[in-house]
Amino acid sequence: MAKFFQILFLSFCLVIQAQNLKIIQKPIDYSKERMKLSLDYMKEHHNLVQKTPNITPKIIVLHYTAGGTIESNFKYFNNLYLENQRATLKKQSSLNVSAHFLVDRDGTVYQLIAPELFARHTIGLNYCAIGIENIGSKSQPLTDKQVEANAELVKYLAKKYPIEYLIGHSEYGVFRNSKLWKETDSSYFTGKEDPGAEFMKKVRGKLTDLKLKNQP
Ligand SMILES: [Zn+2]
Repeated sequence: MAKFFQILFLSFCLVIQAQNLKIIQKPIDYSKERMKLSLDYMKEHHNLVQKTPNITPKIIVLHYTAGGTIESNFKYFNNLYLENQRATLKKQSSLNVSAHFLVDRDGTVYQLIAPELFARHTIGLNYCAIGIENIGSKSQPLTDKQVEANAELVKYLAKKYPIEYLIGHSEYGVFRNSKLWKETDSSYFTGKEDPGAEFMKKVRGKLTDLKLKNQP
């Protein structure tokens, strides 16, 4: 009888563990038009000519949205084209920025794009990087629930894909002179401060066993 309860308890724990990461599917528009814009970006910026905008993810980049809510950010990423105000980015490509995942302040994870598909979120690395956006900003620091959710999501993705690196967006410059950096315009680079050193330290602290690198 004790054995029975032991097994019951163990299965209960497994369910809880699996529930640690619940991914809600909330797909943005990835129509033929976004596919075409993505293929153009891959060709023009990464010098990659492909038939479909598929990627082999090697890097995970964590970001924050600099404000807004799940709904407002979803609406923003759902647009195919960048708005005119973002002149520096728009000069490079009219494809809108986006990310594969969006994490709410309570740790709820939404998947906007399949991780095998291209998204524009990190200059030079988009062709091999999964982007995870978090609702927050410099004045609205990311929460412990987001730390937990990002760590669980990275664990899940590292099991599924050949992930070697985990970086914060603000750290992407260290890849600039490496083999992994693919950007045809050497002057195309923007300084970033998301998602913050403190957040990266906390997420990495939960993932030491994965031995993910933070530089090339
Ligand atoms: Zn970012």
